[in-house]
Amino acid sequence: MARFIFITGGVVSSLGKGLMAASLAALLQARGYRVRIRKFDPYLNVDPGTMSPYQHGEVYVTDDGAETDLDLGHYERFTGVPGRQSDNVTSGRIYQTIIQKERRGDYLGATVQVIPHVTDAIKEFARNETDDVDFVLCEIGGTVGDIESLPFMEAIRQLRNDLGRNNSVFVHVTLVPYIAAAGELKTKPTQHSVRDLTSLGIQPDVLVCRCERPLPESERAKIALFCNVPKEAVIPALDASSIYGVPLQYHAEGLDNAVLSAFGMDAGAAPELGRWDDIMDRLGNPEGEVTIGVVGKYVGLADAYKSLNEALVHGGIANRVKVNVRWIDAELFEKGEADIAAQLEPMHAILVPGGFGERGSEGKIASVKFARERGVPFFGICLGMQMACIEGARNTAGIADASTTEFGPTEEPVVGLITEWMTAEGLQKREEGGDLGGTMRLGAYPAKLTGNSHVASIYGATDISERHRHRYEVNVHYRDPLEKGGLVFSGMSPDGTLPEIVERPDHPWFVGVQFHPELKSKPFDPHPLFASFIEAALKQSRLV
Ligand code: GLN
Repeated sequence: MARFIFITGGVVSSLGKGLMAASLAALLQARGYRVRIRKFDPYLNVDPGTMSPYQHGEVYVTDDGAETDLDLGHYERFTGVPGRQSDNVTSGRIYQTIIQKERRGDYLGATVQVIPHVTDAIKEFARNETDDVDFVLCEIGGTVGDIESLPFMEAIRQLRNDLGRNNSVFVHVTLVPYIAAAGELKTKPTQHSVRDLTSLGIQPDVLVCRCERPLPESERAKIALFCNVPKEAVIPALDASSIYGVPLQYHAEGLDNAVLSAFGMDAGAAPELGRWDDIMDRLGNPEGEVTIGVVGKYVGLADAYKSLNEALVHGGIANRVKVNVRWIDAELFEKGEADIAAQLEPMHAILVPGGFGERGSEGKIASVKFARERGVPFFGICLGMQMACIEGARNTAGIADASTTEFGPTEEPVVGLITEWMTAEGLQKREEGGDLGGTMRLGAYPAKLTGNSHVASIYGATDISERHRHRYEVNVHYRDPLEKGGLVFSGMSPDGTLPEIVERPDHPWFVGVQFHPELKSKPFDPHPLFASFIEAALKQSRLV
């Protein structure tokens, strides 16, 4: 049976609980254990799919087509373990399951209540599909004291009894603020937070204390005394220069040891951390520098393109170069507030990422044109690929009115809504104008690449699988005119109906992909498209 680690947060949000969970899992993995990380989100949305990236950051998509919290991206980037639908659950989904059962009459006349029905459902989600691992790390979203998270707290309290003391450990992440006027780190918020937790019946075993300055031994001892944990289990956590340094830092502070000893386990031999040392060496000692212009919509909020940003960093790790990302608001090009050439000329490569809606689209199309005409490396992802096809249609295939039906009715739907597509489970259908939630082509789909294409050489393969999240598709009926204009369809769905990749053989590096390769990139296994894109940017940097 798997052992469970429950991770809660206190004092304030944004303490990096997700990174902590991912790093701890990576450390356990480095000791030879099999891990799985799960996220419980207390909000009432069924999944984050319909939430604005401004509010909740990026929606991370798993192979099995779940739209999940962006923390699942961290989990996968740090452990390499592909997330699944069953690894992210929200209060909304729990209630949806319970209410459906209630309507079916499954409760046989019983009064349906938070305890035991909601808590039982949470416990079931926690334990489901965990037989194949040694440790399950469950991160509870939100902060202790939130009304929404109470059923989750109650469920994990019960789980400790159900699983047995030796099979469950509570890790609490708190803040130890520095008060400049006093010149001191203050432990009181941590004490209060632990008191809140114990009032819910949860005594933490390990405390992770986020602090801006080193935690003096005296304060560590004080926290241990007041919060009823061994001093070795009070782990200071200072900000790291790179998120990929966090596992090494937590190991140095004794986190993995503290957790194993809370389980009553022998820590054994030191973990194998070579992979993380190598990443930090590459990040810390770059041999060059490139600047990538990302022309998008949600440029004000870095979390909106979390995985993309990380994948670009991974491309830098692969080439041992520093990657600077310039986020450029596509709308400024439309309103004439920014001169396209002046903004894009300093860039060593241009990327148009995924997105939804018409706003900024003409600016994106203009950026594609700039990259195509100037021979600057160009990478279009999802909406970015669609924009590259519309640009190609308008400017190299003579289809002046080319557009996408996403932006309204058009005579030339180079990109359009596809209402039927094949999956391993059979034909999938969606209705025009149907619900927005869960109506996209989501999750991993295979694609076939043309043997002698640029992308086949980048992947070193002609059969690939990548993750999707979109409603619209490039219309295969425009293949001929687009290819005559130099934009070649080099990757297709296996049945040949859905264009997956386009490229320009007469350009140094011009690739558009309908899927999201950034979701599968890892610091220790950079995605080949990102590694190759950054390599092309490096070549470009030597030209200008
Ligand atoms: N809005 C486009 C679509 O739905 C692209 C989506 C995306 O970039 N993720 O097809």
